[in-house]
Amino acid sequence: MSKETIPYKIYLEESEMPKQWYNVRADMKKKPSPLLNPGTGQPCTAEELSHVFCDELVKQELNETDPYIDIPSEILSFYKMYRPSPLVRAYCLEKKLGTPAKIYYKFEGNNTSGSHKLNSAIAQAYYAKKQGLKGVTTETGAGQWGTALSMACSYFDLDCKVYMVKVSYEQKPFRREVMRTYGASVTPSPSMTTEVGRKILAEFPDTNGSLGCAISEAVEAATTHEGYRYVLGSVLSQVLLHQSVIGLETKIALDKYGIKPDIIIGCAGGGSNLGGLISPFMGEKLRGEADYRIIAVEPASCPSFTRGTYAYDFCDTGKVCPLQKMYTLGSGFMPSPNHAGGLRYHGMSAVLSELYDQGLMEARSVEQTAVFEAAEQFARVEGILPAPESSHAIRAAIDEAIKCRETGEEKTIVFGLTGTGYFDMYAYAAYNDGKMSDYIPTDEEIAKSIAQLPKIG
Ligand SMILES: *Cc1c(COP(=O)(O)O)cnc(C)c1O
Repeated sequence: MSKETIPYKIYLEESEMPKQWYNVRADMKKKPSPLLNPGTGQPCTAEELSHVFCDELVKQELNETDPYIDIPSEILSFYKMYRPSPLVRAYCLEKKLGTPAKIYYKFEGNNTSGSHKLNSAIAQAYYAKKQGLKGVTTETGAGQWGTALSMACSYFDLDCKVYMVKVSYEQKPFRREVMRTYGASVTPSPSMTTEVGRKILAEFPDTNGSLGCAISEAVEAATTHEGYRYVLGSVLSQVLLHQSVIGLETKIALDKYGIKPDIIIGCAGGGSNLGGLISPFMGEKLRGEADYRIIAVEPASCPSFTRGTYAYDFCDTGKVCPLQKMYTLGSGFMPSPNHAGGLRYHGMSAVLSELYDQGLMEARSVEQTAVFEAAEQFARVEGILPAPESSHAIRAAIDEAIKCRETGEEKTIVFGLTGTGYFDMYAYAAYNDGKMSDYIPTDEEIAKSIAQLPKIG
């Protein structure tokens, strides 16, 4: 099909929207390793997991066989309020770069949470409501997940307790107020409201908090309050399943115009947007039907794929969650305080870790000044002010498009634009003022936190 016939934005009709999620684990010959009980070292049973997570979500977490899982109609209706999300042809960016490459981005920022996280938040809130629970607890770092979950909980009339990493609580008061507007209670973490929070504060009174620590507090709050469960916005296989709606829509839109991507790029924090975007494409790859280059992009200051170890590790600082085999920097790893770009989790989705270990995808790390440079370049020509997280993918997409300019190859590049950056203006200010610096952890620093991995098998 000629260039002119492909619109700037490829939207789907409501009737073309996916009605099932795709579970990539069903097509993996070698499955991700099971979650282990930190007490016994044995695989977690559904029974054990159901103390922490909602029953239906436990089933999804453990389901490695069903390739397709129906999206309940209540969730489909909610999706219709803000989906399908557009697949945009970045004509202006291509022109600016002078590249023969064709660049597309799937934009997930068109909802109040400003990110893809709402795709899983609404599913998790739905299953909690269906189980008759009073509410859910969670952690949030930068605040997108907490915002998405508070929106989803208010829709289903569920209570929502958010533990927000202290430094973000202080630096992002507007995010906090959005959550409170949707009815959530927001507690800076570590806090005195949980045993694990009190313990961490006694040991490190000046701590700024971390995601790992906020997770421990949220899990404790769920297990000590009747009628509550814990929900998580990334990393888990159930979250990748819900996020597969991103990849399914992308594939339907591309197929409509007979476009086959050569390279698919996504930023990687815990791996949920990337896992969701690539799932249907990876499925084709696993079944031997097609081949794609898939690239995960992570910050050089928190490089779990590119410099981490593939091993069982704790998912949280308080060591209360199940152990997961993943690429990890160690649960005690903290990115340097000058790191402003999000994606600061120490580990990675078990599904993506296994796919990466099998050589089915690549990973690269990028430094934050280069990330903000890409963000600025993108904003100036495509109009959207991207989230710093998303801008990792923009950086890699631009770099690949520049390579095409040098080789003359007309590759088709698709990347995930996960959200908008309106609440990240301190980070943009540091960049605009020329005060942003890069920090790359030393081998010694990484080795030190890797040395703390639990000894399994
Ligand atoms: C949370 C978030 C990410 C990273 O999380 P993943 O689970 O790796 O997708 C990326 N972009 C935005 C905008 C986010 O809010």
